[in-house]
Amino acid sequence: MKRDKDVKVSEKEIEIQKTYMEQIRGLNALQNKKFVVNTFGCQMSESDSEKIAGMLVEMGYSQTEEVDQADVIVFNTCCVREHAEEKILSRLGQLKAYKQNNRDLIIAFGGCMAQQLHVVEKIKKSYRHVDIIFGTHNIHRFPELIYCALSSNKMITEVLDIDGVVPEGLPVSRKDGLKAWVNIMYGCNNFCTYCIVPYVRGRERSREPQDIVREIQLLASQGCYKEITLLGQNVNSYGLDRKDGRAFPELLREVNKIDGLERIRFMTSHPKDFSDDLIKAISECEKVGEHVHLPFQSGSTRILKEMNRKYTKEQYLELAEKIRNAVPGVSFTSDIIVGFPGETEEDFEDTLDVVRKVRFDLVYTFIYSKRTGTPAAEMQEQIDDKTKKDRFDRLLETVYSIVQENNEAMIGKVEEVLVESVSKNNDEMMTGRTRTNKIVNFAGDKSLIGKLVDVRIQSQHMWYLAGEIVAN
Ligand code: SF4
Repeated sequence: MKRDKDVKVSEKEIEIQKTYMEQIRGLNALQNKKFVVNTFGCQMSESDSEKIAGMLVEMGYSQTEEVDQADVIVFNTCCVREHAEEKILSRLGQLKAYKQNNRDLIIAFGGCMAQQLHVVEKIKKSYRHVDIIFGTHNIHRFPELIYCALSSNKMITEVLDIDGVVPEGLPVSRKDGLKAWVNIMYGCNNFCTYCIVPYVRGRERSREPQDIVREIQLLASQGCYKEITLLGQNVNSYGLDRKDGRAFPELLREVNKIDGLERIRFMTSHPKDFSDDLIKAISECEKVGEHVHLPFQSGSTRILKEMNRKYTKEQYLELAEKIRNAVPGVSFTSDIIVGFPGETEEDFEDTLDVVRKVRFDLVYTFIYSKRTGTPAAEMQEQIDDKTKKDRFDRLLETVYSIVQENNEAMIGKVEEVLVESVSKNNDEMMTGRTRTNKIVNFAGDKSLIGKLVDVRIQSQHMWYLAGEIVAN
């Protein structure tokens, strides 16, 4: 559905928030105030946290890892897994002691969990030490919420149940100095029956292409950013909600023209929206890596229907084949759910069949667990834990042996590697990634960070490859 009005946050609203940031900065002057942002969940949450951190820096706070030194503690949460929610609330409870030691401490609780009414009610009742509750649709108003919390003793709750807006012009404090995530859209229209995301992040809203290109040009002009990942719950449907209908392949081609960038990645893709033009764009754009993260969730057409995924096993396999033919050497990764309600042994065998046929380089495997508020949680025929665990183990075994075979086939090949950092375990080793997103370790020094080097692969270690530089 094309949107009939602009969903971009007005410049006036952003200007108002800048005024709040300035005022708080004035209050914080010479006080060495600090903040911590705890992020739970996916890259979307990480990306939101970078904006929250950016605004806090503008307010005169500096980032710390030490919770006991913080003047502002933010919990930016995820609600995809119910079990994780309990852990987050338990950690939130532990902050009470910090608040007792420092009455001026501001504790802010936001993100997907806060979009659920029952969670907001629970926090209001049982977590009285929280100062601010905010949702996913009003992150741009964070400075005003902090200002209100600084000037009052009351808990401030602002959770909007509208579809949200597209904020532009917010400061961003990025975690990584070489790779950057760039949101191209927010929300999701797909309502997969196991997923809570559409209920807490609203419908799809695409950013204007010129705003995205401008942000990436700015990153590239800084000289240090070499790789960007275009982010959305389903990037393949980018632009379909906008009047001019400029779609994702066009955006990819535009971004590919930006000088100074070495690599472009994107995630996540929904198989039902992966167009021929997108395959063409990936094969044409030299900066786009030969890697496609293509969640298939289940290999059984019957279960896919129950999941509301809108493709069949055969269509998925055809798509993977089409991509492989057009993009030589492409690496596939995926997400799989084991034990969805009603999954039979035959359905599970279909999942293993897809794994064997597509030969993924990495799979994020999940044991299905009920998510309150989703249709799947109400489905009869929930699978018992023992069966789920047994299938999960068999899936991992299949995935691991294929990953190893894929890695072994790379030994002796020369791969272009973007050098990212010194290896965590060995100061004399560097680590980077191939165009296909595989981790490669090799001997080198810090001067190589940010550069493209050719590395001959010598050995494989399941989650990474090791090699030696053959050219620089
Ligand atoms: S595409 Fe499906 S799984 Fe992905 S965010 Fe949307 S509803 Fe959730």
